[in-house]
Amino acid sequence: MRLLVIEDNREILANVADYLTGQGHLVDCAENGPGGLHLALTEAYDLIVLDIGLPGMDGYAVCTRLRDAGCSIPIIMLTARDALDDRLHGLKSGADDYLVKPFALAELAARIEAVLRRSGGHARQLRVGDLVLDADSLRVERAGQSLKLNPTCLKILELLMRKSPATVRREALEEALWGDSPPSSDSLRSHMHLLRQIVDKPFPEPLLHTMHGIGYRLGKGDHGA
Ligand code: CA
Repeated sequence: MRLLVIEDNREILANVADYLTGQGHLVDCAENGPGGLHLALTEAYDLIVLDIGLPGMDGYAVCTRLRDAGCSIPIIMLTARDALDDRLHGLKSGADDYLVKPFALAELAARIEAVLRRSGGHARQLRVGDLVLDADSLRVERAGQSLKLNPTCLKILELLMRKSPATVRREALEEALWGDSPPSSDSLRSHMHLLRQIVDKPFPEPLLHTMHGIGYRLGKGDHGA
């Protein structure tokens, strides 16, 4: 799994990163709020470990900004405080779980596993802004309205939602859809056009963005380009 650890205490950061790397994860690190937020919005992670007290922007703000951007990556918050208010605040700002410092590394690893398992490593219900895809029933809704997609559009949407708000390269989409032999060089473009008609056109805010020369991304606003 690819993990991002955002923690300003270098000793804790190094310990956590070493431990998780030793467990076979790929670990990226950030030591402040804005740096962590930027990484989370531009790279594709499976889970984020997020400290609350951070320079630049605290963990609650990072979490809120990520969720507002339509990012559904599981987040485990680290807090030095055990006050009920802090925990509620963390969960309210969109965290999936929290861990009170000081914690044993083995406990963090267990929480990570549990959160990933809960989300299937692969969330069953994907959500980007007001767009929701249930990966089991393959039902798609936006703003409570049910949307009908053909199987190819559905697959594209699922791929983009799983990586949101990161950009998915054209080649990666084509490969996932058609393997080594896309039906024609314009096939992806026409499916994206169709997808946009259904998912974005009837709604005030566009979620599907074309990153010219690179690929596509799903999310609110234009960041993450
Ligand atoms: Ca801190």
